[in-house]
Amino acid sequence: MKKTSSCPVCQHAIDTYKVSCPQNLETHFSPRTRPSLVYQSFVLCPHCLTKFNTAAFSVNEQTKLYQKSELVTLKEAEQAAQTYYHHLKKICAPQLKFLEIGCSNGILLQYLNDQEQIEITGLELSEDARLKARLDIQDRILNESLHSDLFPEASFDIIFMAQTLEHLSNPNEVIQFCHYWLSPMGKIILVTHDYNSPTNKILGKKSPIYDVQHNQVFCAQSLDLLLENNRFSKQEQRSFINYYSVNYALYLLKASFPFLPKISLPEFLDFKIPFIAGNLLSIYQKNS
Ligand SMILES: [Zn+2]
Repeated sequence: MKKTSSCPVCQHAIDTYKVSCPQNLETHFSPRTRPSLVYQSFVLCPHCLTKFNTAAFSVNEQTKLYQKSELVTLKEAEQAAQTYYHHLKKICAPQLKFLEIGCSNGILLQYLNDQEQIEITGLELSEDARLKARLDIQDRILNESLHSDLFPEASFDIIFMAQTLEHLSNPNEVIQFCHYWLSPMGKIILVTHDYNSPTNKILGKKSPIYDVQHNQVFCAQSLDLLLENNRFSKQEQRSFINYYSVNYALYLLKASFPFLPKISLPEFLDFKIPFIAGNLLSIYQKNS
């Protein structure tokens, strides 16, 4: 059955086909994403080059799913945080005011607090993820959904989101909130999936980025457009290498190719390996 879908980034209307929703979706939602269900309902917006999910959930449905979701991927959250910390410590100076949107159990905030003396704040919908943070870090995490009144104008020097922008129903609005919350020379730092990366191009429609939790996925060009349309200028953008455990790499492979047998190594063999997952690190500075 035909229907019309609007691009969540530029509102361009596209004719698509109705896709039926999979069942038991709550099991697929988690505060630090682990792709679980490759979902064939993404279309390319010819106007802004964002690929968006034509069967995405409403803001209310998504908020409820994330609020009651449980953080079951502590080890992966820690591995991801170590990679992000490695990049952020070169950019962040002590006493900077730093907000992470979608901070999960606050493990990255903990590193920045302990090692770099950064003033940290986190936003996370999942109460379970917040309760898995260290006690003093829990106090710095708000279990709130995004709205403009959360913080006064110019509250932060850096706002960081790692693989979070893909999950938001209203990316323009969130970037506008960030503009308001950032100090005059403030920066937004994003880690996003790049659908044009070699890894994702090879996997094609089987890439785990086309996951049920994602409302949209970006390439470098579409991300630039989103940020530039909301008064930010690009400072830096590059791909980088992630370090995953062998078991997580095997899990991702199985998410893309469900017919593969389920293999996992014993803990003592589950070492970290470099993995080109097709992620982009982008830094944008606020324009006046
Ligand atoms: Zn668009």
